[in-house]
Amino acid sequence: MKINSNYLNLEESYLFSTIARKIEEYQKENKDAKIIRLGIGDVTLPLAEEVIRSLHKAVDDMADKSTFKGYGPEQGYGFLRDAVRDYYGSYGAKLESTEIFISDGAKSDLANILDIFHIDNRVLVPNPVYPVYLDTNIMLGRNVTFIDSNMENGFLPLPDESIPADIIYLCSPNNPTGAVYTREALEKWVNYALKCNAVILFDSAYESYIVDKDLPRSIYEIEGAKSCAIEFNSLSKTAGFTGTRLGYTIVPHGLVFEGVSLNKLWLRRQTTKFNGVPYVIQKAAEAVFTEEGQREIRANIEYYRENARIIAETLDSLGVWYTGGKNSPYIWLKAFDGMTSWEFFDYLLREANIVGTPGAGFGANGEGFFRLTAFGNRENTIEAMERLKRLRNKA
Ligand code: PLP
Repeated sequence: MKINSNYLNLEESYLFSTIARKIEEYQKENKDAKIIRLGIGDVTLPLAEEVIRSLHKAVDDMADKSTFKGYGPEQGYGFLRDAVRDYYGSYGAKLESTEIFISDGAKSDLANILDIFHIDNRVLVPNPVYPVYLDTNIMLGRNVTFIDSNMENGFLPLPDESIPADIIYLCSPNNPTGAVYTREALEKWVNYALKCNAVILFDSAYESYIVDKDLPRSIYEIEGAKSCAIEFNSLSKTAGFTGTRLGYTIVPHGLVFEGVSLNKLWLRRQTTKFNGVPYVIQKAAEAVFTEEGQREIRANIEYYRENARIIAETLDSLGVWYTGGKNSPYIWLKAFDGMTSWEFFDYLLREANIVGTPGAGFGANGEGFFRLTAFGNRENTIEAMERLKRLRNKA
């Protein structure tokens, strides 16, 4: 028996374990220090009441012979696919229910989608970015080419004709930078993909944080995208489903490569390797798309957005360079005084008892940058920003 030795090519990620160790060591030596964590990438508010009501009712359905559900359709129940279709339609992205595949979250589908692509494809990944895009390709033995995401391009790289690609990853609003592509920029990517016969894997996990009407929430708002893009979305950050698990992947019928429909390939992949998301979870998700559900989840999103606004406003007042914070729960700032990401981490922990995430952990171009998140509570966010102001004014 031989192992998949590609796994040995993965770089060990010590990012979150190193952060945890540094916090523990600091707290041990400074027992009274009230450390505020602005590094968390997980939500903190509970599920909406409407979601909980629907979840309870679905549990009762499972207790009654007449409403009990066994295996469901692998690609998701019609009631949820229709609800997702109508949600996209509400902001101008026209889809058919059969183009929508319900999953247990964006992460699994971002990894699984690679099943339907030939190993020889050239993969383009922005740097820095959500690490899953890179690692899932390394596991399969693919070489990945990076495209620079940096201060000069506002952490929103545009197509570069000199870098050939067959599979292109884009994430907007971006994790970790919080930067959001404009319609014009996405048009450039779509036109580029159409021209080179490439497929775009578009991750819109933070789409619900976009409030600016001019910014696209889905790549399907761009003409031509239904012939070149697959979109991955999730209720994790939209409706607090990080522990409940539900996502949706859109594979339009217009995606035809070498005469083969990608929708058909993905359907075959899912029906063979996946047995669907639990009925009760799909019923919980359905409630997210009702009028009351939307009202309730918006209140939670607005809570996080206000935290982001408070952070961004503080950085504005201090003259610190950053991206994100306006249509995204992430704020990506330049470390003070030319510090490296980890030097800045230590400095903030020591001098202000604030924890964030060193940008270098998301790729080489993240060096010298730092990620703060809006998923904490209001009181702590305000307190952390007061500390940051005092620290900066002291310096
Ligand atoms: N895509 C991005 C950009 C993310 O930041 C995350 C989670 O942090 C995911 C996908 C994963 O989402 P899910 O919880 O649906 O697997």
